[in-house]
Amino acid sequence: MKKEYKYHYTYRITNIIEKKYYYGVHSCNCLPKEDIGVKYFSSSKKEFVKDQKQNPQNYKYKVIKIFKTRVEAVAHEIFLHKKFNVKMHKLFYNASNQTSTGFDAGGNMTPQHKENLIKSNLGNTWNIGRKHSSEVNAKKASKGDKNGMYGEKHPPQRIDKISKNIIKSKQIKCICEFCSKESDKGNYNRWHGENCKMNPNISIEQLLKREPWNKTKI
Ligand SMILES: [Zn+2]
Repeated sequence: MKKEYKYHYTYRITNIIEKKYYYGVHSCNCLPKEDIGVKYFSSSKKEFVKDQKQNPQNYKYKVIKIFKTRVEAVAHEIFLHKKFNVKMHKLFYNASNQTSTGFDAGGNMTPQHKENLIKSNLGNTWNIGRKHSSEVNAKKASKGDKNGMYGEKHPPQRIDKISKNIIKSKQIKCICEFCSKESDKGNYNRWHGENCKMNPNISIEQLLKREPWNKTKI
């Protein structure tokens, strides 16, 4: 039988001497802050765990976020690993990025390996995946005269119809089958039903969408 845990959390280990980091996920029944760096030292290499136990003064531990379900916690770990691309990042101990299906190590990489790869083609991986393509930037810039509706006014009847439709859609209340919360149609479609965080089969993509992109720092 699968063991049930009370807490599922993401954490960061910092080596304050080397200024290097590790992001991970763990489940426990005690309070997470009484777990990480006390009873649990990551699922990383033995030497990393051993060094933490031998030189506790060199390490700092932070519980990033606590979740009710393992799947949410793992999704947050995926988010963090992707955000910093920890597998490739010189300042991270992580040898792999967590993915939805398990560990995608691409073969375990030595620090030297990582360094070579970073030097060879990646440059600054800190913000990798965060840059907008030129196409997106061009689209964002095309307010005003390039926008199809620019300069045109909606006729009054049309405005009336639009606002009536908005009011109508706000009046339709939907009850979420997973969390029983009542919300208008727009909010229901965005946050509830299939997309509800209480949906046990919620997709990883949806969980990641819930993550405010600019809230997490190293
Ligand atoms: Zn819901």
